[in-house]
Amino acid sequence: MEKTALEIVKDLKDKGFETYFAGGSVRDILLGKTPKDYDIVTSAKPEEIEDILEHTIPIGKKFGVILAVKNGHNFEVATFRSDAAYTDGRRPDAVFFTDPKEDAMRRDFTINGMFYDPVAKKVLDFVGGQEDLKKKILRFIGDPHERIVEDNLRLLRAIRFKNELELDYAPGTFEAIENNAGLIQNVSAERIQEELTKILTGKNPGQAFREMSETDVLKIILPELEALKGVRQPEKYHKEGDVFEHTLESIDALPENPSKELAWAVLLHDIGKPETFSVDDRIRFNGHAEKGAEMTGEIAKRLNFSNEMTVNVKWLVTHHMMFGGFDKMKKTRQAHWIHQPLFGELLELLRADILGTKPKDLSMYNELKGLMDKKELLLPKPETLLTGKEIMDEFGISQGPEIGKILDVVYHAQMEEKIHTKKEALELVKKLLKA
Ligand code: ATP
Ligand code: MG
Repeated sequence: MEKTALEIVKDLKDKGFETYFAGGSVRDILLGKTPKDYDIVTSAKPEEIEDILEHTIPIGKKFGVILAVKNGHNFEVATFRSDAAYTDGRRPDAVFFTDPKEDAMRRDFTINGMFYDPVAKKVLDFVGGQEDLKKKILRFIGDPHERIVEDNLRLLRAIRFKNELELDYAPGTFEAIENNAGLIQNVSAERIQEELTKILTGKNPGQAFREMSETDVLKIILPELEALKGVRQPEKYHKEGDVFEHTLESIDALPENPSKELAWAVLLHDIGKPETFSVDDRIRFNGHAEKGAEMTGEIAKRLNFSNEMTVNVKWLVTHHMMFGGFDKMKKTRQAHWIHQPLFGELLELLRADILGTKPKDLSMYNELKGLMDKKELLLPKPETLLTGKEIMDEFGISQGPEIGKILDVVYHAQMEEKIHTKKEALELVKKLLKA
């Protein structure tokens, strides 16, 4: 991809236009990381970009952004621009085409505001980004308060980049987030979800959520999480502290590059605890997984999760306590679980949950993981002895929930090796229908 990006830069430079890599890719190159994508900026105007490059799609022509497609990769190629006033806290009212310096000034942080000429191998830095990157400082370009008021999503972007890249806030930055936290309500559900997902699947999510809480951003966007603060747990099993602490330590224990589903499920796995808190022989949270799944559904709706994502995260939260009796289950029951499409993710949820707990005891996770790796429990799904249609034809019953129940009994009988053939299956059904 880098080679293709370089070719595009060369194509534009050959026609006499000043052209660079910009933003995140420059930051990543300077950090010695491989950029996820390459944004390109140029003095060429949108029409000129379209003339020079072979395959282009005008995705944001008004804003000077053209998508270039080459060798199976996509690149945003944008004309140097500055933003006119923001009146809605989200998007500039208009853009003006201008020079590289002004284009740098409209960007959010100094570390995101540099350009790189991949032909001359030179950095163009109007904002002191190289120095801040070296000193590991997250600094807004310009006044932090003004930049947040201009685009409210920057509240979350600041917290994300600071923690992902393990930086310190420049003076005044954290205070500006604190003082403007309320503006987060202007940001659309999609953008909040996207940003939170990036935070959760990146580095140091625990500290990022701690900062969201400290600045009061969290109680606006995810009050259900803020409510975990001060919820006591039985000390014998949870020396880490309240449910909030446990949750932060659990998200920090996520594997590298977790799926979105796993990351959200770990974040939300205990949100049902405040409402199900009770003290019997000890502190208990009976039914907290089910309650948590119900609340997950509400959060998913509010933050505009896709249907698939909603179903998956809810499934994981619902079943996060199922391992308790796993070793005592019948083999067929265990096999049923292991055949669930998200079982691997459920196991990883268990791992993060355990690692977020003091004292940590990974023995159950290791045992299951070992069994899975040896495939001992991975009984192959048996060949179907009978289909629903065959049952309907043979016994003259019509379609309905009864068929499903019969198939389930047949399946389990087969798994327990009580029946082996179609004939035996039919006899079993006959007995069932008589009973
Ligand atoms: P990543 O893609 O890893 O999240 P990135 O730096 O590439 O990081 P993008 O959101 O892809 O971030 O944006 C690309 C560049 O556009 C940024 O580096 C920054 O220069 C600029 N930018 C993006 N969003 C904003 C914003 N809300 N305000 C100001 N500049 C922004
Ligand atoms: Mg990017």
